[in-house]
Amino acid sequence: MINQEDFFKKIVAHAKEYGFVFQSSEIYDGLSAVYDYGQNGVELKNNIRNYWWKSMVQMHENIVGLDAAIFMHPTTWKASGHVDAFNDPLIDNKDSKKRYRADVLVEDHLAKIEGKINKEVDKAAKRFGESFDKEQFISTNPRVVEYLAQSETIRKRLYGAMDTNNLNEIKTLIEDLEIVCPISGSRNWTDVRQFNLMFSTQMGATSEGANQIFLRPETAQGIFVNYLNVQKTSRMKIPFGIAQTGKAFRNEIIARQFIFRMREFEQMEMQFFVRPGEEIKWYDYWKKERIRWHLSLGIPEEKYRFHDHEKLAHYANAAADIEFDFPFGFKELEGIHSRTDFDLGAHQQHSGKKMQYFDPELNESYVPYVVETSIGLDRMFLAMLSNAYQEEALEDGSTRVVLKLPAILAPYKIAILPLMKKDGLPDKAREILAQLQPDFMCHFEEKDAIGKRYRRHDAIGTPYCVTVDHQTLEDNTVTLRDRDSMQQERVDAGALRKIIADKLRPVV
Ligand code: ATP
Repeated sequence: MINQEDFFKKIVAHAKEYGFVFQSSEIYDGLSAVYDYGQNGVELKNNIRNYWWKSMVQMHENIVGLDAAIFMHPTTWKASGHVDAFNDPLIDNKDSKKRYRADVLVEDHLAKIEGKINKEVDKAAKRFGESFDKEQFISTNPRVVEYLAQSETIRKRLYGAMDTNNLNEIKTLIEDLEIVCPISGSRNWTDVRQFNLMFSTQMGATSEGANQIFLRPETAQGIFVNYLNVQKTSRMKIPFGIAQTGKAFRNEIIARQFIFRMREFEQMEMQFFVRPGEEIKWYDYWKKERIRWHLSLGIPEEKYRFHDHEKLAHYANAAADIEFDFPFGFKELEGIHSRTDFDLGAHQQHSGKKMQYFDPELNESYVPYVVETSIGLDRMFLAMLSNAYQEEALEDGSTRVVLKLPAILAPYKIAILPLMKKDGLPDKAREILAQLQPDFMCHFEEKDAIGKRYRRHDAIGTPYCVTVDHQTLEDNTVTLRDRDSMQQERVDAGALRKIIADKLRPVV
């Protein structure tokens, strides 16, 4: 068994080697926390986005799409609270000159305590065998009880300080916990300061007349400011939703973990507009729907868990994350938030324009409540990539690296491979390619031995390989090889389109 860190390194290396993800501006030594998607990455990313779009827009009568601009009127961000409150507390270590998110330093400390608890539980589980009662052990073992009490106190102090914007208290907490800088090992910290995560730029030809504008830190606000335009022109009735995918930008203080935390990333968001008072019903509904979507891709259930928020953002009255078991542990993949009427109410106030909806059934007007589902496309990409990566020992003693991606997401669906580069096999293979190409991403490859070509397609996750041989010339049959089982069956080339379409039918 390799450890998690090595496993993660392999994923990053594989992503580069096979054209999934490159560091941005690599020839200039890269730009921190910014990445480019290569020839296979862009396909995987498009397929994830399409799978989401299909389930949200195509499969819901009452959800429509939108593509709002990245630039928005600057008052948008005043109204949304981002100008005043989209901050992270940061702290510098004076010796290493490294910058950290102060709350993350404390959270890492909490994770260490959690690690100690898990160790105790594992030890006890081994000792007691089948008669082990985990709940009872956790509530009675003095050491575990002490760890839990410590965590609780730290949590209370941290969230209390964050809520009241008490930066001194966060610093004192870091000092009290004797947290050291992982680089310098010292406790020589600066004060904690607030840092706004929005990128800004100027709009206008001259800097004097210029307006400071922001690159959107979330796509949601484009939906809010357009909600009445969409509602009126589509004649939607509440409850209804608006879905959007697009770039968002955050000047993240700590940029690590590859495409998990980027400064430029893509979100897939859906805002669902509901009657006031019905938001919790819909919040529960979307929690179930979203986890169903994830599981529909055939990913094991134990890879996901919900994390209900104790500390709510200023706009929410209920919030949960869907966490995924990434190579560095369970982390947020998607957020489901009941945002109340905070955003629409704030835009109404700041714009002076009515944001009310007239409900014909109730015969009254109100500002709708909003339930949001928000997933990071890049994080979903990383989740799929890391879940798919496997090194398998084969019967003949060799090994293969295979990406067991859900077939619907794979960059190429079919590789079309003439067994040899002669005897008319390439021509025949191109004929089959022409039949399949309009419907599926196909890859035609005639170079190298067939085994080598299979390996290359295993490594990029191509679910099906079609091999054209001499028999094909006689009876129009080909071998269809399955990526995961490596089983091959002989099928009629004319039936390929239907066979593969059936295998790829999405369950959304
Ligand atoms: P985190 O706590 O990890 O910073 P967040 O709670 O700020 O995330 P949201 O504002 O709820 O995230 O954004 C919705 C989704 O957008 C997240 O669940 C995540 O998938 C994605 N996301 C947010 N920030 C980033 C980022 N810097 N890089 C990549 N994806 C991101």
